[in-house]
Amino acid sequence: MSVLLQARDLVRLYRLRRGIFGRAVELRAVDGLSLTLQRGRTLGLVGESGCGKSTTGRLVLGLEAPDAGQVQVDGAPMPPIGGRAWRQQRARMQMVFQDPLGALDRRLSIGAQVEEPLIIHGLPAGPARVAELLMEAGLRPDHAQRYPHELSGGQRQRAVLARALATAPELLVCDEPISALDVSIQAQVMNLLMELQARRGMAMLFISHDLRAVRQVSHRIAVMYLGRIVEEGEPDEVLKTPAHPYARALVSAIPHPGRRGRRILLTGDPPNPADRPSGCAFHPRCAEAVARCRTEAPVLRPRPDGRLVACHLAHAPLLSQVA
Ligand code: SF4
Repeated sequence: MSVLLQARDLVRLYRLRRGIFGRAVELRAVDGLSLTLQRGRTLGLVGESGCGKSTTGRLVLGLEAPDAGQVQVDGAPMPPIGGRAWRQQRARMQMVFQDPLGALDRRLSIGAQVEEPLIIHGLPAGPARVAELLMEAGLRPDHAQRYPHELSGGQRQRAVLARALATAPELLVCDEPISALDVSIQAQVMNLLMELQARRGMAMLFISHDLRAVRQVSHRIAVMYLGRIVEEGEPDEVLKTPAHPYARALVSAIPHPGRRGRRILLTGDPPNPADRPSGCAFHPRCAEAVARCRTEAPVLRPRPDGRLVACHLAHAPLLSQVA
């Protein structure tokens, strides 16, 4: 598989004013994050809400410019936002949002909304092409005449997908695409995403707080905490033997009838990107923290098993290697 997109050392800051005196606060939503997206493969990005997952998705798509770092598509830097080259690049990459009703225009028919990107990008349009796209997303051609409020939640998300497919994207960024759907519909939308990827060879960045959903669709999983990736590896490895204490806590929270071992309850305050702890940002909540964790930030680096982990204790040599 070839590399479609690389993000290197991305930083995204938001400057907020807080309190009656309007004290300026700097919020580091993404803090030195790197990732690689391969053609035809899915990278699952998982973590608690507020950890910077959605900001990462917008940076990857070029909807926001990073304060530092760079996104490269096919080895070339993402063009400046708003220009002609950027618009051409954007046609190659589409986003599917959590709330399909919010992503659709309630005043326009589904057909008009699916046709819109075809017209904007000068692609063959018309009812026949719209019908093809609707059917590819699992809708009927007559859904083109309906309005968003006349569709179910699952049908709306399919309509969003049909519109996203119009420009034949090479990358689909799916930001919590199933969390607003009924449980019975979630599996259908996940299966559709996997079918579309197999048929079209798209890369996908699948963003979710649901580790089970991420595991189902992903070829690789990245666990994110306070703006950084703390573990990245094959889904089975990360789910069966999570190496980072935060990943272990996430995995232990997945309900599983046959699971041995107890759920790891995280203690301490929830993460606040405006007040990042020193050293390892996870140390106030980590039961395994040692003195070094309070002062020295661990670097995301590979282990002998190929997994990337950012934890001082996850790189200790195995006993078999020491002997
Ligand atoms: Fe816990 Fe220390 Fe590892 Fe951070 S570096 S996850 S605080 S053990």
